[in-house]
Amino acid sequence: MLAAGLLLAAFLLFLVMRLRGQGDGEQVRVTVDGKTYGTYSLFEERKLCIRQESGTNVIRISGGTVWVEEADCPDGYCVRQGKIHRKNGTIVCLPHKLVIEVTGGGDGGQELQPDAVVH
Ligand SMILES: [Zn+2]
Repeated sequence: MLAAGLLLAAFLLFLVMRLRGQGDGEQVRVTVDGKTYGTYSLFEERKLCIRQESGTNVIRISGGTVWVEEADCPDGYCVRQGKIHRKNGTIVCLPHKLVIEVTGGGDGGQELQPDAVVH
């Protein structure tokens, strides 16, 4: 009986963690060359133009989604990745060492640590 209860608790915890991991994000974190360039709300209209020696990326935040509108990288892969809005979603531009991440708001890194929801 006790084992069944523990199993159920573990199952519920698993469900909760899955739901948390798949929810809509609240913030956008832009990282350039391993350093945080800035953190922005996903719900404020914004256009970011990030110029580097290696090239330029134009990032748009609009309507709760974020995407790369323009880039002059050789592969254009970051533009083709399209719009993201889910928590833990990322767009990467390898040639420009640029990473766009959607986080859950507040402390962005916390949802990656399962320990934070175990009490
Ligand atoms: Zn790119």
